[in-house]
Amino acid sequence: MSEQAVHPREERVLLLLPEGGGDNPEANLIRLALGEAGVGVELCADLDAMARAAAEGAGAALVAEEALTPASLPRIKQVLAAQPPWSDLPLLVLDTIPKGIGTYLAGEVPCVTLIDRPIRAPSLVSAVTAALRGRRKQYQLRDLLLDAERARRQRDEFLAMLGHELRNPLGAISTAVQVLNRVGSPHREAAEMREMIERQAAHLTRLVDDLLDVSRVHSGRIALQREPADLNEIARLCLQSCDGLVEAQHHRVTFTPSPTRVTVDADPVRLEQVINNLLTNAIKYTPAGGEIWLSVDAEPAVGPASDEAGGAATQAVVRVRDTGIGIDQHMLEHVFDLFTQADRPLDRSQGGVGLGLTLVRRLVQMHGGTVTARSDGAGKGSTFEVRLPAVPQAASEAPYAPTPAARRADDAPPHAPRSPFQSAHPRHILIVEDGPDARHALGRLLEIWGHRVEVAEDGTRGVERAIAGRPDVALIDIGLPGLNGYEVAKRVRQVLGKSVRLIALTGYGQPDDQERTRAAGFDQHLVKPVNPKLLSRLLEDEPAPAGH
Ligand code: ADP
Repeated sequence: MSEQAVHPREERVLLLLPEGGGDNPEANLIRLALGEAGVGVELCADLDAMARAAAEGAGAALVAEEALTPASLPRIKQVLAAQPPWSDLPLLVLDTIPKGIGTYLAGEVPCVTLIDRPIRAPSLVSAVTAALRGRRKQYQLRDLLLDAERARRQRDEFLAMLGHELRNPLGAISTAVQVLNRVGSPHREAAEMREMIERQAAHLTRLVDDLLDVSRVHSGRIALQREPADLNEIARLCLQSCDGLVEAQHHRVTFTPSPTRVTVDADPVRLEQVINNLLTNAIKYTPAGGEIWLSVDAEPAVGPASDEAGGAATQAVVRVRDTGIGIDQHMLEHVFDLFTQADRPLDRSQGGVGLGLTLVRRLVQMHGGTVTARSDGAGKGSTFEVRLPAVPQAASEAPYAPTPAARRADDAPPHAPRSPFQSAHPRHILIVEDGPDARHALGRLLEIWGHRVEVAEDGTRGVERAIAGRPDVALIDIGLPGLNGYEVAKRVRQVLGKSVRLIALTGYGQPDDQERTRAAGFDQHLVKPVNPKLLSRLLEDEPAPAGH
């Protein structure tokens, strides 16, 4: 229960009497009786004054029937309807005329209590104090809602901060392993260990991304970049990206694309996230050697939906089914709730923090779709089904043919002619990064690719070294001590103009973060942990894939 004290304003009774009625014997009796009961009374000049006072906080409103006219009824209803959801201001009407305005109002709005005249002090006091007691409970509910909202905001801010902080060490680990891949021991066991670090770092990166996305999605800070997206193609890419995990678990996966093209008006990156989450869960929650089915279909919409032209609407359906541990009936209703996880062994061998499905549901809802989970119980496998509105167009009837997806930098074939990222255009690169591990690992990686590298450990030195050394490219962290990355970019740009390429390297990747780096003079914005293929493309002057 909230500890917030009730403000005296929130305990007062607002009194509305007919014009000139403030001094009559009834008004005096009301003041006296309520005053003796410790209730504060405030006389309001008219209905509007009363509405204004009520909006600032009040315990109840006491209105003489003759202060109301038929014309004032809509205004009263409007004021009552405009209250916040927790509020239901008690309205006490001093009633004289049988079936008068008071009776009518009591039939129209539920918060009205009629007080018969002539008033008796004890009945007035008991009616008012009962109303105030109820009102106090409403204010307590308001405080609880405010506390819950505050706690939710704090949680989201904490998650966002945590996610961001985790990206820095992850960046260093991912880059270091890239270096080891080139200079490390060729011994089989060493190679296996490197692969393991890479796999686990990728897993951690995905968790961090989910963490950040969950907090953004809850505070409405994710904007979809919709385009006509081929669902067969997205599903195929997701399957490809899970290859390593499937292999490690010795699962058999069957992919059944829709025989016709299924187009959805969607953000392909977000849909990938949805399907990837479902696939990863199926892989995680199925004991080794299990079976997983992924399918894409176009089906008539469930329910009385129709498309804009009045035809029967089509839904795009993605199903992920597995032969895994299944989900208990009581868990099924909650699997999409934040931080929900079924009971599991203490070793938590499947990892995870209960964010993935929350994110899946929110992202699917943002696309106007639904997601459901089915399972016949523990040990009987699970099926997750995503339904999205399909785009009704002739082109979507075209037979399915895989096409290379431009937005996936990860899967694009490496462009460099010799070894994967060996540079064809060696550059002079300045790295401005305060994290020693991240700085060193990135420096070594770029040297291995054939570039000449200079480093600076803070913003001020970054500016000095850039101006003195005139590098071709400066990779600049944003959260630097002293002079931050934006300032560094501005100052370097002022002196060196367009002769240097400025690339921001940061844990923040939202559109407004990218807007800020652009405004500071950066040419590109990379999010940590940096994708080596993407970085190598930028350095080779190859166009970055869309979406980055
Ligand atoms: P996480 O996997 O990180 O714990 P999710 O939100 O993705 O979080 O999933 C929530 C919970 O739902 C999981 O912890 C697990 O108990 C259950 N679950 C999800 N997918 C499956 C599945 N395919 N089979 C069995 N249980 C599942």
